[in-house]
Amino acid sequence: MQRWAVSPVAIATLLAVTALCACTTISTSHDPLYRAQAHDSEIRVTAQNMQVGIASISIEVTTGAMTDCSEFAVVPGMTTRSIIPCRVGAAVTSNMCTFSGAPAVATCTARVPIQTSTMVTYVASAVATNGQAIKAPEIAYSGGTGQPERIARPVYWHRQLNRVGRIDLGVFPDTDYRTGTPVFVDPYSRFTADLDTILDGAFFNTTDLFANRYTGDRQFFNLWAGPFGANAEGCTRTFTGDAPAVSAIMDGSAILHRNAFRDCGSITGGGGGAGSVDASASDPSWLLVHESGHFLFGLSDEYAGGATSPRCRATTSTRRRRFASRRHPGPVRRPVSAVKSGPPVSGAS
Ligand SMILES: [Zn+2]
Repeated sequence: MQRWAVSPVAIATLLAVTALCACTTISTSHDPLYRAQAHDSEIRVTAQNMQVGIASISIEVTTGAMTDCSEFAVVPGMTTRSIIPCRVGAAVTSNMCTFSGAPAVATCTARVPIQTSTMVTYVASAVATNGQAIKAPEIAYSGGTGQPERIARPVYWHRQLNRVGRIDLGVFPDTDYRTGTPVFVDPYSRFTADLDTILDGAFFNTTDLFANRYTGDRQFFNLWAGPFGANAEGCTRTFTGDAPAVSAIMDGSAILHRNAFRDCGSITGGGGGAGSVDASASDPSWLLVHESGHFLFGLSDEYAGGATSPRCRATTSTRRRRFASRRHPGPVRRPVSAVKSGPPVSGAS
C-alpha cells in the first residue's frame, strides 16, 4: 500500500521552492480612513520581500474635486446625478522612497492635505532588489461632501476595479448622532470618528482573530460612508432623505447608532441587507463583523446549543437579492461568529 499520496520528492521540492520564494508583497492603507472635513491624511504603503529585500516604493497620488457627475451630462442642463462620485480637476503628485541595505520590510508614507469634497486616489508600487515589481490596485477615498448630497462617500474604494467583483459595504449614521449633541459639535464628525475606529478594527486589524477574514480579504471590499437619513431601533430600520438612494447601490448597509438596544441584522445573502451596530459598545468592530455576517452573507447565529446571541437578533429578509449571481470570496462564507476567539458571547448556551 502506498503510504504517500504525494511523493516525498514532490513535497521536498515544494518546501524548497517555498523556502526560496522571493515573493514581494505590498499592502496599502490611509489614516484617517475618512473625515468629512479638511484634514491632513497619511497614505502608508508597506512592501515585503524576505529573501532579497525592498529597493524602492512609489506612491502616485491624484486629488481633485468630488462631484455627482452632473458635469458629464450628455444634454447640457440635463441632470445626470450619480450616486457613485466623479472627480474633476485632477492633479497628480509622485512620492518615491528608496532604501539602502535591502530591508526585508519597508514602509513609505505620503501626507495629503484634503479639503471637503476632495477625492483622493493613490496607486502604490514596490520594487525588490532583484528587480521584481509589484503594484497595488488603486484606492480612492474622500473628504466628504461640502453639503448634504446624494453621493456615496468613498472610504476605501477600488475605483478602477469593476464593482460587480467587489462587495460594497455602506456605513450610515443613525439619527441619534444628532440627539443630545451640543449645537457647536458637528454630528456627522462624531459619526465619522466612530466609523474610522470601527472599520479600522474590522478591515485593518492583524491582531484580533475575529478580524482576520475581513482584513485578509479587504481587496474584495469597497467601503463607503452614507449621508444622514438612516434610523435603527430594535429590528426596525428605515432609510429616508438621501440615504435610500445610497443604500440601494450597496450590497449591505450598516447603521451605526449610539443609543442602547440589542443589535439586529437581516439574514440576507447576495446583497441588499442591513443591520445595526452599536458604536458605543466596547467591541463595535466585532459587532460589525458579526452583523454583516447576517446581512452580507446570509449567515444565521450558530451558537452551541442552537441559542442566539443575547446581543443580536437576526431577521429573515424578503428584500430582493440584487446580485444573486455575484461571487463572494470563499473564506467569509464561514459563520462569522465562529471566528471570534473565545466564547462567542457570554450567556450564549
Ligand atoms: Zn447574530
